[in-house]
Amino acid sequence: MTQETTKERTEIPQEDKWNVEVLYRDLKAWQVELEQVGRPQEKPHWPELAAFKGRLGEGADVVKEFLTLSLALDQKLSRLYTYAHMRYDEDLGHEDHKKANAVMQILYHDFHQELSWAEPELLALPDSVTEAYLKNPLLEEYYFYIERIVRMKPYILSADKEEFLAMAGKALGTPVSAFSSFNNADLKFPPITDSKGSQLEVTHAKYLSYMRERDRSLRKNAFQSLHHSFEGFENTICELLNGVVQKHLFNMRSRGFASCLDAALFPNQIDIEVYTNLIGTVREHLPVLHRYLNLRKKALGLDELHLYDVYVPLIEEIEMKFDYPTAEKMVSESVAPLGKEYQEILHNGLKNDRWVDRYENLRKRSGAYSSGSYDTMPYILMNFQGAFHDLMTLAHEAGHSMHSFMSHKHQPYQYSHYPIFLAEVASTFNEELMFAHLLKQDLTDLQRAFLINQKLEDIRATFFRQTMFAEFELTIHKLAEQDTPLTPGLLKEIYRKLNEEFFGPDVVLDPEIDIEWARIPHFYNNFYVYQYATGISAAHALFERVTHGGDEARVAYLNFLSSGSSHYPLDLLDHAGVNMRQKKPIEATINQFDQLVTQLSNLM
Ligand SMILES: [Zn+2]
Repeated sequence: MTQETTKERTEIPQEDKWNVEVLYRDLKAWQVELEQVGRPQEKPHWPELAAFKGRLGEGADVVKEFLTLSLALDQKLSRLYTYAHMRYDEDLGHEDHKKANAVMQILYHDFHQELSWAEPELLALPDSVTEAYLKNPLLEEYYFYIERIVRMKPYILSADKEEFLAMAGKALGTPVSAFSSFNNADLKFPPITDSKGSQLEVTHAKYLSYMRERDRSLRKNAFQSLHHSFEGFENTICELLNGVVQKHLFNMRSRGFASCLDAALFPNQIDIEVYTNLIGTVREHLPVLHRYLNLRKKALGLDELHLYDVYVPLIEEIEMKFDYPTAEKMVSESVAPLGKEYQEILHNGLKNDRWVDRYENLRKRSGAYSSGSYDTMPYILMNFQGAFHDLMTLAHEAGHSMHSFMSHKHQPYQYSHYPIFLAEVASTFNEELMFAHLLKQDLTDLQRAFLINQKLEDIRATFFRQTMFAEFELTIHKLAEQDTPLTPGLLKEIYRKLNEEFFGPDVVLDPEIDIEWARIPHFYNNFYVYQYATGISAAHALFERVTHGGDEARVAYLNFLSSGSSHYPLDLLDHAGVNMRQKKPIEATINQFDQLVTQLSNLM
């Protein structure tokens, strides 16, 4: 049900709120456990952890005792934290919950601080000792956990050098924080006018919504205003970006990695081939993207397609409204290809166990997320308004929640969290399920075209655009590795060329686009963006396998969902039948895009 005016949380019926009370009856009960587990008044909070300091070389039994203790503590803290942050998010103005959340932030920070000696101590042990640990049956359940730490050994320096690196960390973080302050606080954009002459302000958020407006001169003016503002600071921003690249270079060279890319991917257990394969395969198939842009140009009836024409929906938002119970029912129905058991767990979770905090209330956190801890149900925060977007969000978050549910159920605590590289696979997979489910409904051509266009835009933005970003990131790091100075002129030239190739012959590139790199915050995240593209590809390839591959493929996918971080992320995908070092999964997404372009073209 869509609410007319936003209510106070107390006015929302119990059945529409998440079941947070099963965690702790109330804040009092939470506080009792906090005192026992966290000992907030004492420092150190956990002298029993410090008691192991200097002892990890004594034998496998000591290591086991230490790991068991620290992981058990971590698990209890995460339960306490889950309650505190969920209560806080329900009503950001609630003083007691705000305080509880802040207490947990501090406690977590202290927990990591009080454990910070452990990894360096393990890494400083002679190879013979760590190798013996890995072979010892006593540590069998921690094998992979320990292996993941000791594989960093070749890149760890002597204790005094490590201390210097740690001290340099804060200073090296300046470019990232400086760009963030500049971009979010200091930079202002001049106001613009729309086609009727009304003046409008430009902010980051408004820019994105202007790009989707029908009013073309509004789009054009917004595009120019924003990019001219960035261009006015091109030297400063170039230095900031250079600063973060230099930081990566410093890390790579001091630790002895072969490249900045290697230094970024190795700790996450990702092979370089995954990155280069993504870029290489997308590049081979760029004409598929060009075909879509050609269709877009025709559909919009334009002589020239500019970059400010790329985001406007081809089909105007059509009325597709869902109340919450309908959306919930559709999400449950959409997962049928995953089998009865999966479907029943999700259905029961959404409907009876109250995983979801459904509606907006005053001072509730905006947006949506999936949360929970090892020994609790998964929880979903939503602000459901009944639009198409909300339906997809519920499907997406349900995907995350089921991934958590199954990994928690089947893995010991140390392997229960899925790694970053895999984080968006299950959620995107469930979006695919929902998309397929929707297309099976009785739809008008217009509705069908709307859905297909949404999907195409999704793939364009998440897959093609992020791959272009990934290539830009790689290029500037390679230049820095060869000690080529990064200047605004050089960055503009590289960026323009990439845009020419990615957007192809039907798009007119205005000079403003050359500076777009200056406004992308993700370039400060050290080879992060490629994971959007690999995530969507892996999800689609798995979806194709499960929907066409019969029972074996379905079971392999369910095993993947149940495996948390018990192996390297690429191996987990491999076991489910998708090899991200190869072209195939990337091509599957490109083929899907190609087919959708054909379908949309026919419908229009
Ligand atoms: Zn997500």
